[in-house]
Amino acid sequence: MKLFAIFGDPVEHSRSPLMHNTVFKNLNYQACYTRVHLRDGSKLRQTFFNLGLSGANVTVPHKEAAFQACDEIRGFANEVGVVNTIINEDGKLVGYNTDADGFIYAISEFKNIKKVLIIGAGGTAKALAAKFLQENFEVTVLNRSQKRLDFFKELQCSSYIWDDFQVQRYDLVVNTTSAGLKDEELPAPKELIAEILNNATYVADAIYGKLTPFLKMAKKKHLHYKNGADMLLGQGVLANELFVASQLKKEDIKKYMQKSFEY
Ligand code: NDP
Repeated sequence: MKLFAIFGDPVEHSRSPLMHNTVFKNLNYQACYTRVHLRDGSKLRQTFFNLGLSGANVTVPHKEAAFQACDEIRGFANEVGVVNTIINEDGKLVGYNTDADGFIYAISEFKNIKKVLIIGAGGTAKALAAKFLQENFEVTVLNRSQKRLDFFKELQCSSYIWDDFQVQRYDLVVNTTSAGLKDEELPAPKELIAEILNNATYVADAIYGKLTPFLKMAKKKHLHYKNGADMLLGQGVLANELFVASQLKKEDIKKYMQKSFEY
């Protein structure tokens, strides 16, 4: 029996154990998926080996630490320095990023996206910004503090903190901060969010399982919005494919993972 886990802080909200276990159980794959509350990201590698894991997902705030913890990085994770999926290949930790493709899948119903505002500058923001640029979107990043903005400047995104930001018109505004995850905070001051939403066509939040204060405001303004559930599904299907080393069919993984959302 293989063991998988998700590392995060907080992690109790995560639906990943239910999603992956539903796939394993229904497709008779001998594996179990649990959650690990990890406060110190520098302990990720040791904890992974202590638990004898075959693979893991990594969530807030350890995705950059997960990049550091791996022996080898494959694919898109190399471009962003952010890992959300780790595979144990004979004692070697191999890191991947499935968040960005998961998000592109999630917004496929949003049409004619050209100009995007990302609120937040953490691991998820990095992955989305790099992916959006690959899709030829124009990307602006807005964060509460300066320290994480260098990455976006190097990527050639416009990047701002709240005080120096001038609102423009955006086809899509995405909240990638953890504001609203475990609290009732907005990702920026209320007046600024109101002005941003007044100039937005589509709105998305990476947070799932609740209507965040950010999405509540979008709803009040009658905007077309979605929470992070489809992103979760998209990244989960891709991660599961890696966990089972392509021994299960992608359509079957998706079918049962989607089913887990009904529970
Ligand atoms: P990180 O910890 O890497 O980044 C968090 C970002 O949020 C930072 O830019 C931080 O700003 C900002 N932030 C945190 N608290 C506040 C606040 N109260 N007000 C304004 N800004 C704030 O997190 P991740 O990128 O890993 O995850 C971000 C969110 O996305 C989480 O809620 C996570 O659950 C969700 N997520 C959902 C996924 C899905 O599948 N649906 C996939 C991945 C993530 P600063 O730089 O100033 O500290």
